[in-house]
Amino acid sequence: MKGICVLGATGSIGVSTLDVVKRHSGEYKVVALTANTNIETLFEQCLEFKPDVAVVVNAEKGAQFKANIVGTELAKMRVLIGEEALVEVATLESVDSVMAAIVGAAGLLSALAAAEAGKTVLLANKESLVMSGDIFMQAIQKSGAKLLPIDSEHNAIFQCMPAGYVAGQDAPVARRILLTASGGPFRTTPVEELHDVTVAQAVAHPKWSMGRKISVDSATMMNKGLELIEACLLFNMQPEQIQVVIHPQSIIHSMVDYVDGSVLAQMGNPDMRIPIAHAMAWPERFDSGVAPLDIFAVKQMDFEPASLERFPCLRLAIEAIKAGGIMPTVLNAANEIAVEAFLDERIRFTDIPVVIEKSMAEFTATPAETLELILAADAQARTQAHSMIQVITA
Ligand code: NAD
Ligand code: MG
Repeated sequence: MKGICVLGATGSIGVSTLDVVKRHSGEYKVVALTANTNIETLFEQCLEFKPDVAVVVNAEKGAQFKANIVGTELAKMRVLIGEEALVEVATLESVDSVMAAIVGAAGLLSALAAAEAGKTVLLANKESLVMSGDIFMQAIQKSGAKLLPIDSEHNAIFQCMPAGYVAGQDAPVARRILLTASGGPFRTTPVEELHDVTVAQAVAHPKWSMGRKISVDSATMMNKGLELIEACLLFNMQPEQIQVVIHPQSIIHSMVDYVDGSVLAQMGNPDMRIPIAHAMAWPERFDSGVAPLDIFAVKQMDFEPASLERFPCLRLAIEAIKAGGIMPTVLNAANEIAVEAFLDERIRFTDIPVVIEKSMAEFTATPAETLELILAADAQARTQAHSMIQVITA
């Protein structure tokens, strides 16, 4: 039995992970589940999976959760409250695999702790990798942790890499990555209409059902920008080796171009249980619960280049990775603040790249050699983005 800790259990990836776990209950034991505020879902999940520990990050909700389990069959379950508990459960002796599925920078310390503790890290939380970059990859190498990508594109690329490939290694026979993107809900919307798009339109992704933050990132294509940075780190590639390809059907999840001209692609229905099951079973395979791909229903696959004019967030991400140092951290932090402001209807959709670009302009790409430097850059970039938003909304 492998012990699994699901960080962000109540989110879209967390729920899909537990759906896969349920199909393989003889192989996986749920050790810990964590939530931020959604204690109702956490309660149901605890009833079903009987974890040793449940974590609620939000203090008020945590106290409520503790009160709620009194007199139920969960009464004896260990409950931890607060941010530090995430690190504690991610590094428990009884945990073999950690699903890092918290959204945003809030997931950094626990994902990094899992890496340092030599766990098998199932990485969905791309923001933590984008922020901490080399430090994260070094922690994996140093501890001998296994790093398995959950992001569908990176999982696809991992599957297409040479046999025995280990994340972070050089693979000189793979000369290029073709990183696919659906193009999001505004792929064909006239650019002048983007000014007026609503939150509801932005979070309604045509192919994937996901959390709100990543849905907005998909609409701006910052998601693809973060993924391009993620791919550089996971597969030790230069940004120039990564070609973003818009493929609206989302059947191919990315491709690897080899030196002999072979291009390997991974295909499947757009359902996150596929990469989750792949990473959980790796190096074996097991059932994910996803229906077989009906290739005749797909009929046609289209490919087009991504326009950096339509999607300035993608351009900013490419600029950030090329600049290096703390710039990806700054990009990610400013994006988190801008997306939050858009979701709160304080700024327009088209203000998101403006806030990020103006924030980035206030920084130089100083080295990001320590966690302290990264956390400081993250905090400063958030302050900067907040003041840009104040200027816009004044
Ligand atoms: P979500 O919003 O549905 O869920 C987020 C989870 O994180 C929830 O369990 C929530 O309780 C927890 N959380 C939020 N804020 C927190 C905080 N401050 N402290 C602790 N926990 C907190 O998000 P999601 O769509 O599941 O995405 C999770 C991560 O996976 C993101 O990094 C996203 O980019 C990545 N990802 C998601 C998908 C997808 O299909 N949803 C695909 C690829 C990658
Ligand atoms: Mg993805």
